[in-house]
Parts: sequence; C-alpha cells; structure tokens
Amino acid sequence: MDKPAISGGSPIRDKKIYYGHQYIDEADIQAVVDVLRSDYLTCGPKIEELEKKLCEITGAKYAVACSNGTAALHMACLAAEIKEDDEVITTPITFAASANCALYCGAKPVFADINEETYNIDPEQVKKLTGERTRAVVAVDFTGQSVELDSLLAHCHANNMVLIEDGAHVIGTRYKGRCNGSIADMTTLSFHPVKTVTCGEGGAVLTNSEEYYKKLLLYRTHGITRDLWQMHHEPDGPWYYEQVVLGMNYRLTDMQAALLISQLDKLPVFSLRRKEIVKAYNEAFGKLPQLVVQKEIPESDTTRHLYILRLNPLRLRINRKQFFEALEAENICCNVHYIPTYYFPYYEKLGYRRGLCPKAEKLYEEIISLPLYYAMSDQDVKDVIRAVTRIAEYFDVENSNEA
Ligand SMILES: *Cc1c(COP(=O)(O)O)cnc(C)c1O
Repeated sequence: MDKPAISGGSPIRDKKIYYGHQYIDEADIQAVVDVLRSDYLTCGPKIEELEKKLCEITGAKYAVACSNGTAALHMACLAAEIKEDDEVITTPITFAASANCALYCGAKPVFADINEETYNIDPEQVKKLTGERTRAVVAVDFTGQSVELDSLLAHCHANNMVLIEDGAHVIGTRYKGRCNGSIADMTTLSFHPVKTVTCGEGGAVLTNSEEYYKKLLLYRTHGITRDLWQMHHEPDGPWYYEQVVLGMNYRLTDMQAALLISQLDKLPVFSLRRKEIVKAYNEAFGKLPQLVVQKEIPESDTTRHLYILRLNPLRLRINRKQFFEALEAENICCNVHYIPTYYFPYYEKLGYRRGLCPKAEKLYEEIISLPLYYAMSDQDVKDVIRAVTRIAEYFDVENSNEA
C-alpha cells in the first residue's frame, strides 16, 4: 500500500473517530420501553403524536410517517402521479433513492448538474432540461443546506410540475425564515441513524396539500380505506374496507415513533452543536488555500447533516484517495458523499453515461465527508482540524518534502 507517510509523526488520535454516529439517551430508551408495555406496537397513538409533532416543528399542515426515507420518496412520487414515460429531474450528488423513486413509477430520472459552489441542484439546469414529459423535480437539500426553493417552485408551478424536496438532510434548516418541509409541494424526511435525528429506520412526507395527504395515507397502507367517501361500494358491514389503489405497507411502528418523538425533543440542541462544529471547521479550513469551503447561501439557516471537505487540486500534491487515507492514518475515518448516481452499473445498463454533469463529476473527485455529529467532543473537533490542517500543509504543492 502506498499510504502517504505523514511527516513521520504518530497519529493525532489513538482512538478512531467515525464520520457520523447516533446519540441515544435514557429518555429515548424509556420511550421505547413504555410502548413495549402498552397496547399498541404499530399504528397506535404514537404515530399520530409523531405526525403532530413533525407539523409543529416544521410548520407543515400534514405529515405522514412511514418506514424509511426511500418509502417516503416513493409515496411522494405516487401521490404526484408520476407514471411510465414521465421524466423526473434530480441531482446526481445524492443517495441513489432520490432517482430510484422515479424508476419505481416507471418514469425516467433526468440528471441536472449542480451549482459548483453550493453543490445543490442548479435551477438553471433544471429549466434547460424541462421538456414535454417532465412531471416533477426531486430536489435534494444536500448536506442540509436548502435548495433554491423560490426559483424551483416558480419554475415547477409555471410548468405544471410537482416539486418534491428530498429533505433527508434538512431537518432543522430554515429557508428565508420558514422551516423546510412547509414550502415545497411535498418534502420527504429520513430518520436513518446517520441522519440528524433517528428511529433506526423511518421516514415521513410533509405537505400542505390535503389532496396529497389523503393519497399518501392510502399508499402507506396497501391502498386500503375505511372512509366511506373513498369507497366504491356500500359497506357489507362494520368489518368492511376496500382497496382502491395499489399501495404498499410502508407503515412505521409505535416503538420507532416513540423513539423519534424523544429524539425530536433534542433537535434544538442537536442543531446548535452541529452549527458550532461547522463554524469551527469553516473558520479553520477557510484559511487554507489547499481547501475549498462549501458556499452558504444567505437564504438558508442551515443545520448541517454532512460536512464536505473539498480539496483544491491546484494546491495539493496528493489526490482525494491519498488525502482520505492520510486521514485514516490519523484515525479519522471519513466517507464520501456521493458517488454520482448515474455511475452505478444499474444506471449504466439503463443507458446513462459519464460526462452528463461535469460539475458534479468534478466535485465527486475532490470531496471527503468529515466527522459531524452531536456527540463529538471539543477535543474530537480539534483533532479533526489539526489532522486536516497538517495533511493539507504537508502536501501543499509548494512544500517540497517527499510524498
Ligand atoms: C438517507 C437518504 C435517503 C434515504 O433514506 P432511507 O431512510 O435510508 O431510506 C434518501 N435521500 C437522501 C439524500 C438520503 O441521504
């Protein structure tokens, strides 16, 4: 292995630190235990309580909790009536689910390039790619920074398209003073353990539209209804229900809902700590010409889910892989978000080729996700900053020590 030797010294830390980690306290544990002792394990009072809480926190009119963020995206596409031969525009710098949800509906994902400074989908590219068959945009608030909602919403509504915001990273963020989740046609959330709040697996769709809300409820549970107004026939008796569309079982359990309610109580402190860490990173890395800091738009008051370190290849003698390995040698274990979705063999098989989104592809070559989570200590943060600074300066183009 060609691991770059780092100035010959010993690692900055002897204990490994990872890029993300959940934070579970006694209140979380007690909340789950209480449900286990109750009458309901699924579809009980905790689901309703959770949905109410999500509405309170975000200002959305309706929330539909579901089994995970991918299910939330699928349900949102179904509610938007995305069908075969429709096109759905999304970004390649995201988790695969943001594009897969279009494929689930038989539609075609169309990849729009990013803004090279914010790394979010570029509304101008969305406009260019909009055609006769474009039905929706799945816009991802990458790292937790809001997409340009005003511009995207205006374009979507002028062209009879639905704006689905993939808000898997966005909880705790505000756009122009309003919480994300209360602005787009539908916003999906994920509560996977690496996200800002978690319940193991979980998701939700937020919307202000009663029409979408009613459809989402149907799709969550097999397309089955007990509501008279949705039924096609007279009930045979009190046991009667009807399946009126092809839905799924995307329900969340009450154990998970209870855990998430307890996690959401901590969102303000989670958010504050993430902001502190991001500020410390930005201050340290903004001074280093070997690195590029993600641009923050003034419209977004951001709770960051990920911290993306971007390398400046003109100032470094090592590439991203070598930088990543050098951080690992310091016991700082990072990750990369994301591999452009259309690089995957499944998408290649569908006919997508490299070169589609040059700015996204360049970004992918230059990024590393640094540790960012609530439970990081001040010492952890300092260690990450020291290690990154040490590597960046050691491998500066003007520094002639041997790599
Ligand atoms: C995590 C994530 C998802 C999927 O959420 P799951 O709950 O894991 O299904 C979708 N989109 C983005 C951008 C994500 O980060």
